[in-house]
Amino acid sequence: MLLHLLPMACCERCSSNGSLHYRVSTTARPEWHFVCPGCWPTTSLEEGYRYGGTRKRSGRRRQRRPQQATTG
Ligand SMILES: [Zn+2]
Repeated sequence: MLLHLLPMACCERCSSNGSLHYRVSTTARPEWHFVCPGCWPTTSLEEGYRYGGTRKRSGRRRQRRPQQATTG
C-alpha cells in the first residue's frame, strides 16, 4: 500500500478536490484512480468496474508555527 505516499489526488473525471474519494478501476482504465462521489455512480456502471476502497481525508492537520517567545 503506497496510498499514504500519493500526493493529494483529486477526481480523475471532474478534477474536483474533496475530502472523500472512491478508489476504482475499470477496463478502460485498469490502474487504480480516484473519483469523487459525484462521478462514482457513472464510473460504477462502466465495464470491468472494481472498487478498491474509500479514501477520506481524516483530521485536518493545521500547520502551526511555533510562536516565538519575544523577550523584550
Ligand atoms: Zn468527479
